[in-house]
Amino acid sequence: ASLFSAIDMAPRDPILGITEAFNADTNPAKINLGVGVYYDDNGKVPLLECVQKAEAKLMEQQSPRTYLPIEGLAQYDKAVQELVFGADSPVIQEKRAITVQALGGTGALKLGADFLKRFSPNSEVFISDPSWENHRALFESAGFVVNNYSYYDPATHGVNFEGMIASLKSMPAGSIVVLHACCHNPTGADLTQAQWGSVIDAVRSNNLVPFLDMAYQGFGSGLAEDGAVVKRFVEAGGPLLVSNSFSKSFSLYGERVGALSVVASSAEEAARLLSQLKRVVRTNYSNPPVHGGKVVATVLATPELRQLWEAELAQMRVRIKQMRDELVAKLKAKAPSHDFDFVREQVGMFSYSGLTKEQVGKLREESIYAVDTGRICVAALNSKNIDRVVDVIAKVL
Ligand code: PLP
Repeated sequence: ASLFSAIDMAPRDPILGITEAFNADTNPAKINLGVGVYYDDNGKVPLLECVQKAEAKLMEQQSPRTYLPIEGLAQYDKAVQELVFGADSPVIQEKRAITVQALGGTGALKLGADFLKRFSPNSEVFISDPSWENHRALFESAGFVVNNYSYYDPATHGVNFEGMIASLKSMPAGSIVVLHACCHNPTGADLTQAQWGSVIDAVRSNNLVPFLDMAYQGFGSGLAEDGAVVKRFVEAGGPLLVSNSFSKSFSLYGERVGALSVVASSAEEAARLLSQLKRVVRTNYSNPPVHGGKVVATVLATPELRQLWEAELAQMRVRIKQMRDELVAKLKAKAPSHDFDFVREQVGMFSYSGLTKEQVGKLREESIYAVDTGRICVAALNSKNIDRVVDVIAKVL
């Protein structure tokens, strides 16, 4: 037998599998609500105007494509840090925060996971039940044991807050807790600001290591509102990791632009952490790609482009909310005995719709694709497809 002949087929990615089935479907009325991508009202992934303008500006400069530093483009790291922590943050002034450009939010999580495994090898990792499906695999591949903490309550379609706090209180000190900063994927159920206060207290009093995953800043209530939890963790003191992504907020999915930020207790400690993080980068992919980082840095640092970006981001956010409202109103008209009001309370691109696996199967017979868990991407709804989605949902209820 050869080296490769005994290798099994890896399990299919459940969400990419939906897209494959969708692509193979010849029904012209097919609709894919299984995706994790924002579509505009024409069903297209937008190329933001702020990105086009930044690219035009960069084209004029015709700069050579040299290697970036291991930690990424300096202007990018600075701009990201100011966005994530706030420009006036004490952790920036005191040089206690380090930010490293990463290959999207996924790459940032992987950097953080590899880094933590080196220096806290025996910690356990806790992710929400349920969570983004790659969280578990990422931390397991870094060598951690990954557990769940209570999060979602199917009965209320909201957060099982008492369960979550009880989980946090029962974790061994030093455990790494992955928290969705906003727009929880897959459920759409977020903590209230008051509940965040209790979560932060529990994390700090139990000496847990918070790892905030912020993949949707600006998709919930606004850039500042969605990022508020980062500042609150900073105020509470202690170590903090934050991964962030511009895949969704800049509609730059394929450019792989994200970052990992780590808050240390002093500038001197931060310098040591940065040197070690650079080692993780160096031994994985040496240094990050240039283009996406330059685009984002240009937009963030150019006042008129920044303003344009914030307006375009607001448009995406508002359209998603509109789709939530319309979905609820239209379902109320078509299926008055079913209560979907919770969809309006959910935040971000996704909704745990409450549809069962069986009902999702029936949707698929009508060429409407969703995840078996009932997760739908609200950002894939638009003025042209929503009526058919509502009709079919009403039929399968
Ligand atoms: N974290 C969460 C919660 C996500 O939903 C996603 C993307 O779907 C990511 C991280 C990864 O982001 P990126 O596509 O930038 O790697």
